Amino acid sequence: MNHNIVPVSAMDTFCFSCSPAVPCFNECCRDLNQFLTPYDILRLKNELNLASGEFLAQYTRMHTGPESGLPIVTLKPHDTHRLTCPFVTPDGCRVYENRPSSCRTYPLMRAVSRCRKTGKLTEQFWLLKEVHCRGFEAGDTWSVKQWIDQQGAAVYNEFNDRLMEIIGLKNQHLPGPLDGKSRQMFYTALYDLDHFRSQIANEGLPDGLGMDGGIAPAILDAAVNDDVALLDLGMQWVKQMLLFRNHHNR
Ligand code: SF4
Ligand code: SF4
Repeated sequence: MNHNIVPVSAMDTFCFSCSPAVPCFNECCRDLNQFLTPYDILRLKNELNLASGEFLAQYTRMHTGPESGLPIVTLKPHDTHRLTCPFVTPDGCRVYENRPSSCRTYPLMRAVSRCRKTGKLTEQFWLLKEVHCRGFEAGDTWSVKQWIDQQGAAVYNEFNDRLMEIIGLKNQHLPGPLDGKSRQMFYTALYDLDHFRSQIANEGLPDGLGMDGGIAPAILDAAVNDDVALLDLGMQWVKQMLLFRNHHNR
């Protein structure tokens, strides 16, 4: 199938409309090969009122990056033939308010790169014109920036960029496959948040793996009571854990 992928800048515009009225309604919610980020999972498990462990078991598959050894989480299709999203219904997406970042960004794709010297992030966008998608035939004109804002993608991008930073850090300091114990800690702290919360509540953060000098009780309290604060802490902790492992591997 010939899809067209066009690089675009933040101020470039495109014409697009998606609603139940389009003849291709729901066509983009099959042939699924969807990665889920930690923030996607936070939003989805709360939308479905599930604990993270239940959500992960019911709706996802965990893979291990062959070169990095990092955990990779994908959405489990509802069926093996059409690879349909488990959340699509005849009326559309049943998790629409909390749909994953890639669904929000579509028909755009976004990638970021970080300058090693300055730490500055550069965003890149592409417009993906898939043959089945009729949304380009009519509708409003959007700039790339307006589309990202209107889709509520900014908060997703913020957490996804932090994940990319952590992955970059791991690849830079700990090249090669991550060991099984670190992979499990990475998975728990970023993807299985409710399990991470119980660990913190019962045992605190594992000793000697970064966060030297301890964490203010207020930050721990916030993390135990609020998922976003918990993911924020999980990301900080994983970053420290990777740096700590790098230091001790020398
Ligand atoms: S989460 Fe919603 S928008 Fe995304 S593929 Fe599934 S049904 Fe479609
Ligand atoms: S294929 Fe395109 S226009 Fe059709 S429902 Fe999906 S995003 Fe909307």
